[in-house]
Amino acid sequence: MAYKYIDNYREKGARKLLVEELKKKGIDDENVLAAIGKVKRHYFFDETFWNQAYKDIAFPIGEGQTISQPYTVAYQSQLLHINKGDKVLEIGTGSGYQTCVLLELGAKVYTIERQEKLYNHTRQVLPHIGYKANFFVGDGSIGIAKHAPYDKIIVTAGAPTVPDVLLKQLKIGGILVIPVGDEHSQKMVTIIKVAEHDYEKIVLDTFRFVPLVGDKAW
Ligand code: SAM
Repeated sequence: MAYKYIDNYREKGARKLLVEELKKKGIDDENVLAAIGKVKRHYFFDETFWNQAYKDIAFPIGEGQTISQPYTVAYQSQLLHINKGDKVLEIGTGSGYQTCVLLELGAKVYTIERQEKLYNHTRQVLPHIGYKANFFVGDGSIGIAKHAPYDKIIVTAGAPTVPDVLLKQLKIGGILVIPVGDEHSQKMVTIIKVAEHDYEKIVLDTFRFVPLVGDKAW
């Protein structure tokens, strides 16, 4: 792929404008805004489409999948309340853009993608642009038991229900952020594990994600 990892004044300027746009749309966590301001989203696009990289839109990344809209990435990141050193499980690596935002927030990231082509692409690109995560290929709807428990879990694809197994893999005090609904629209759901069998659930705004496909999903 003809990627040139160059951050020109044009991209820097566009990134600043994107951060301003997200602020206007209600993102108010300064750490999240700073992380969005740091991650060079155009590196996830073919050079031909760099003029699209800082628009607040999702964009095709191949295999019928998309790089998430920056607003959605910021929104989910904000709900996770990342503390430096948090162990985060990300389900749906995709392009790795959300992964990089989590890494900029100081998280230690375990990320899983079911599509082998995307997994192979992203695990090569991220170290190349300066980001280190732990990459896995497979069905993330069952989590990754081997590395549990996690401080935070983020699901970046739409699920029909909240998989119980993900709640089991959360630490006490941990947070799960997951879009839940049908194939057309999902509500963003935040679940806080307050005790071993006690959860607080908050249902938030409506989004449209690609489906979470797997054993505990579609
Ligand atoms: N946040 C990513 C980004 O910014 O590029 C976009 C993620 S994309 C909206 C959702 C991803 O979840 C897709 O790459 C899809 O293949 C993946 N996915 C769907 N079901 C999955 C599953 N059960 N386990 C792991 N990944 C899954």
